[in-house]
Amino acid sequence: MKDFLSQRITCPHCGHHIHLDLDASSGDQDYIEDCTACCNPIHLNMHIDHANNKLELHVDSDDEQIF
Ligand SMILES: [Zn+2]
Repeated sequence: MKDFLSQRITCPHCGHHIHLDLDASSGDQDYIEDCTACCNPIHLNMHIDHANNKLELHVDSDDEQIF
């Protein structure tokens, strides 16, 4: 399994396609990335499935979350 994976996601706000380089070596990650097109925050949830050598990436907007 490669440690760095290039993924393409779609911005939940504007539909812009964004390339991300994900570091799968550091395990599951949950973070916010700003869209390069509309600058809105995109919530990224990365889960490493070691059993299947797979990386799952969940993308959603952060609109309804309250900090
Ligand atoms: Zn966007």
